[in-house]
Amino acid sequence: MTEKLYDMDSHLREFTAQVRACAKEGERWAVTLDRTAFFPEGGGQSADTGSLGGSRVLNVQEASGVILHYTDSPLKEGETVRGILDWEQRFRRMQNHSGEHLLSGLVHARYGYRNVGFHLGDGDVTVDFDGELTRAQLEELETAVNRAISENVAVTCWYPQKEELAALDYRSKLELKENVRLVKFEGYDLCACCAPHVSRTGEIGSLHILDHMRHRGGVRLRMLCGLDALEDARARYLATAEISGLLSVPQLETPKAVRRVLGELEELKQALADSRRQVLRMKADAMPETEGNLCFFEKEMDMLSLRELVNAGMAKCGGVCAAFAGKDGDWKYIIGSRNTDLRSMAKEINAAIGGRGGGRPEMIQGSCIASRQQIEDYFGIAGDKKWN
Ligand SMILES: [Zn+2]
Repeated sequence: MTEKLYDMDSHLREFTAQVRACAKEGERWAVTLDRTAFFPEGGGQSADTGSLGGSRVLNVQEASGVILHYTDSPLKEGETVRGILDWEQRFRRMQNHSGEHLLSGLVHARYGYRNVGFHLGDGDVTVDFDGELTRAQLEELETAVNRAISENVAVTCWYPQKEELAALDYRSKLELKENVRLVKFEGYDLCACCAPHVSRTGEIGSLHILDHMRHRGGVRLRMLCGLDALEDARARYLATAEISGLLSVPQLETPKAVRRVLGELEELKQALADSRRQVLRMKADAMPETEGNLCFFEKEMDMLSLRELVNAGMAKCGGVCAAFAGKDGDWKYIIGSRNTDLRSMAKEINAAIGGRGGGRPEMIQGSCIASRQQIEDYFGIAGDKKWN
């Protein structure tokens, strides 16, 4: 068994320990110590990293009470080494994890919902509850957690005796009977957890619920605490400030301004589409009648306009009228005819122009990858019969 220094002192950043064993495992070495402050992966929290002697600790895992430190180079058995944690990372994880306990404790006390999923990544924390919560309820909970943080209440962790444990009402994900470690947020929560926590709630700084969504009959929310929350909020302020500057409106009026701009954009798109269709009608009107085929090539065109163009062209030609939107190698097409059964021709046409698609006897549509030249060659459009 490895002595878990983080259990009793979550703020221990440096320690000395004796190397018990060091075995090569693939590209890494698995090092065991007599004691450690490195927290192994567990309870939704990732493993600590840092340095041990002259080696980097890349991962830490626990197996039957023994903690394995996976390092990038070997250490000598029996040697006394100094371990140094990547403290900034660990502290931020403690802020987030302790914040999650406060939130889950309040959710359980107020609504009876259980925390059924917890992921603590760096800068990304999600919590799942087995009941639905509205935005208003989540805002109240967020405020309540931040009040509990400002009250700076004590957080204690201990291993109770069997009898003591049996008499306690605590939250737990696992049905553990032995070696249960409890984490108590004075006046707020009691929960079984193996991870290191802050000593007083003030260390959490703040808790922000970023967003929420329905998830498996309950709710999944993303949250951040402390320094992670500060950095996230700063990035959001900067983004809002930039939008506010671009639109020349106060920051809190940016949603209204963006909706206005999007509305204007929609109107312009509509006007542009109308103008394009008008130009197409003029083109079609200017076409002389022909017994052969007609081909049109346009850079950008929606399918509705393409169809209108084909309809106008069909009335002017004896063969097929084919309209293409896009560029060589990437076309969308609509082909129409008053006297050819295009549905039965679709396979042959597609084979010739590298296309896929189909439709009705009088009109087919799809996409193709041929060049404009190949398409014109196939439909027999050349010289003065070429139309744009
Ligand atoms: Zn926990």
